[in-house]
Amino acid sequence: MGKLLEVTDLKVDFATAKGTLRAVDGVSFSLDKGESLGLVGESGCGKSTTAYALMRLLSDNGRVSGGKVEVDGKDLVAASDVELRKSRWQDIAIVFQNAMTALNPVMKIGDQLADALVLHQQVPRSQAMARAAEIFEKVGLAPSRLMHYPHEFSGGMKQRAVMALALICSPKVLLADEPTTALDVVAQRQVLELLVALKKDFGLSLILISHDISAVAETCERVAVMYAGQIVEEGPTRRTLLGARHPYTRGLVASMPSLHADIDTLESIEGGPPDLTHPPAACRFAPRCPYAQPICTAEAPPMVEVDAERRSRCHFALDLDQLKPRERSANVAS
Ligand code: SF4
Repeated sequence: MGKLLEVTDLKVDFATAKGTLRAVDGVSFSLDKGESLGLVGESGCGKSTTAYALMRLLSDNGRVSGGKVEVDGKDLVAASDVELRKSRWQDIAIVFQNAMTALNPVMKIGDQLADALVLHQQVPRSQAMARAAEIFEKVGLAPSRLMHYPHEFSGGMKQRAVMALALICSPKVLLADEPTTALDVVAQRQVLELLVALKKDFGLSLILISHDISAVAETCERVAVMYAGQIVEEGPTRRTLLGARHPYTRGLVASMPSLHADIDTLESIEGGPPDLTHPPAACRFAPRCPYAQPICTAEAPPMVEVDAERRSRCHFALDLDQLKPRERSANVAS
């Protein structure tokens, strides 16, 4: 049986003043029913663009220039606008990054939920409001708050309301784009726990987009690490993060603050990502990589199978531990 979501060789281009910028370059991954995948990487690595491309919600200067996005066998890249409208929110839905702006400020939240259901599933309004109340309870909000405006909600409550909006049409795949941004730490934890509970409750397939590796480690069964528009490492979350086979993943993990380690020094990944209007022809991480060898600036590394469940885009994925890394800088935490 095929996977619920299959993304194959996805490419996304943006027209910029400097020329065409390929923000996503040959991204492939798949997701089973009920499975969760975390997409991690620095700002600008292409993780949010990948999510928006799956929904075909790119800005006017962006376009999907290649590849396939199949949800339950339907190709959303090739779909007509009418077909796409049917799939959005019902097959695949998104929790937007900024809950403050994802809701219409001049409409009561219950009306926004009911409108989405009436529009996409043509149900009577009374039935739509009953469903909105049901979903509100699932996300931990009192149905009595349905007739309130967004400005009457706290940040954490708004994020829950945005999650209710994404779930109102019972999608099969839920994309959550940095859902904890701008929340305090208590609300962040509550939102992540809620995502895990909703995934189980609704049988959802979940893609969590985050720069926060620990959020993904706690929430997702699999992780895909993105760098400069490409997936550079993918596999089961724990094994991939603890036994990384790509130097960039190792750098991300090493730069994570830990409760148990000395916090006087934090490791950093030196340098910055390449200009994607003119990406390097060889390894994109080579200028920053402490393990780089002559071949790395001469040839682009292929995606290598580390084992049946893991892959890494590194010439030395299978023997990284035999290389001696260049010394990293240590930044003194202030
Ligand atoms: Fe580093 Fe070379 Fe691997 Fe690229 S291919 S990540 S430069 S070791």
